[in-house]
Amino acid sequence: MLLNGIGWAAVLWALALYLLRMLATTAIYHRLVTHGSYQAPRLVWWIGCLVAASAGQMGPSWWKAHHLQHHRHADTAADPHTPVVHPVAWRGFIRSQLGWLLDEGFHPDSLPADVEADPVLRLIDRLHALPVLGLAALSWWIGGAEWLGAYCLSTTLLFHGVASVNSVAHLAGDQPFHTGDASRNNPWVALITLGEGWHNVHHGFQGSVRQGFTVRQGRLITLPDPTYSFIRALERLGWASRLRIPSERAMLARVAGASRHHRRRGAQPC
Ligand SMILES: [Zn+2]
Ligand SMILES: [Zn+2]
Repeated sequence: MLLNGIGWAAVLWALALYLLRMLATTAIYHRLVTHGSYQAPRLVWWIGCLVAASAGQMGPSWWKAHHLQHHRHADTAADPHTPVVHPVAWRGFIRSQLGWLLDEGFHPDSLPADVEADPVLRLIDRLHALPVLGLAALSWWIGGAEWLGAYCLSTTLLFHGVASVNSVAHLAGDQPFHTGDASRNNPWVALITLGEGWHNVHHGFQGSVRQGFTVRQGRLITLPDPTYSFIRALERLGWASRLRIPSERAMLARVAGASRHHRRRGAQPC
C-alpha cells in the first residue's frame, strides 16, 4: 500500500491512463484533427478521438474550434484563453488555466466542417461524456474505490497538464522563433505534455508534426518530443503518413532577431 489507500497497481493504472490519454490529446486531437500535420486512416481518428474524449477534453469539434480560435487571435482579447491580456497577472493565469471554461464562449460559434462531416467523429463530439463515464466505471469494476480514485487523480493531473500549455507556455520560457505572440518553449510543460511545451515552435510552425526544436548559436537543434516519437511509431506501423516538417531554412528564417528581409525570403510556414 502506498499513500492514502492507493497501492502501486492503482498508481500504475493512473500513470498508464495519463500517458495514453495525453498522447491521444496531443497526437490525435491537436496534431492530427486540428492541424493536419500528418495523415492517418479513419480508424486511427476514431479510436484516438474516443481515447482523447475519455480524458475529459470534450469532443473533437469543440476542441478544434477553440484551439483554432486561439491560434487566430493568439494573445489578444479574442483569444479564448490567453493569460497575458488580463490587467491582474494572477487572474490572467487562473483564467487561462481553467476560468475560461466558465465563459459565455464555452460553446463555439461554429464547428469545424471537416470534423462535422464525419458521422463517427460527430457522434463522439456530442456524446463526449460517455467515454469519461465509461472509463470511470471500468476503473471501479477493476479495483473498486481505489482504482476509481486513481482514475480521478490521473484525469485531474491530465487536465492541468494540457491547460498548462495555454497558461504557463504563454508566460514562462524562451522564444527562439519570431511569432508575434507570447508563446514560449517551456521544458517543464514539454515534460508533462509529452512534447507540447515547445509551444513557441508550435505557434511559429503550426502544421509541423514535430515541435521539439530550438536554436543555439544559429543552429537548429532538436529537443525531446515524445508525441512526435509516438507518431513516428504509428508511421512505422502504417497508421500514419505524410508527416509535415518545415525545412531547416524556413525555420532559421523565423529565428527571433533575424532580419525582416531574411524572414521574407525563407519563411514558409509548414
Ligand atoms: Zn498557444
Ligand atoms: Zn495548435
